[in-house]
Amino acid sequence: MQEPISSPAAPNPLLPIQNGIKGLVEKLSRIKHQVTETVDGSKAIGTGFGITFKHYAEQQLKLKPSLTIQYPEERREQFPRTRWRHALTRYDSGLEKCIGCSLCAGACPARCIYVEAAENTDEHRISPGERHAVRYEINMLRCVFCGYCQDACPTGAIVLRKDFELASYTRNDNLYTKEMLLEPAKSAAVPLDETAVADQAKA
Ligand code: SF4
Ligand code: SF4
Repeated sequence: MQEPISSPAAPNPLLPIQNGIKGLVEKLSRIKHQVTETVDGSKAIGTGFGITFKHYAEQQLKLKPSLTIQYPEERREQFPRTRWRHALTRYDSGLEKCIGCSLCAGACPARCIYVEAAENTDEHRISPGERHAVRYEINMLRCVFCGYCQDACPTGAIVLRKDFELASYTRNDNLYTKEMLLEPAKSAAVPLDETAVADQAKA
């Protein structure tokens, strides 16, 4: 016997309304999210501008000292133990403090110091000791400004000063020679005398 064909289910008349409400809820949710994001973003921008304006007003009204240094016309004060450009120093007599012992080169972790020593003679005296540095070089490209060379030097010959303007245009400019490192004498160099011996004892 043939089965009766069942009749199709009747369409839900409320379905379009339900879909419409669902779409409306999703749209409202998206709008709410966008509004929240806009408000949060505006708050962040307002906070940023507020800080900028506060600092600007403080600067204009001179409530706080300026943090901006007008370099190079103005220089920031450096810390007392700042270590920058090296210098080879002299005694007051004009004699060089360096005795060519190479202890600075041995202490240098970057191996960037080269010292070549030569004997002093009574006719040609450069330093109070037996020897002096006839050649002294520092490769500043390798230097890490640790100051170990200064610490190792027994005579206080090599020191790191506060001159930080070390920029150059060529690699060779960064190879500092003795002539570049040696500070000028305060007075004309004189032969080893009591002043130099006293200076050496003080060092
Ligand atoms: S400061 Fe340090 S790295 Fe530079 S030359 Fe002296 S010991 Fe070497
Ligand atoms: S700078 Fe000092 S440690 Fe270096 S070679 Fe001269 S005396 Fe020796």
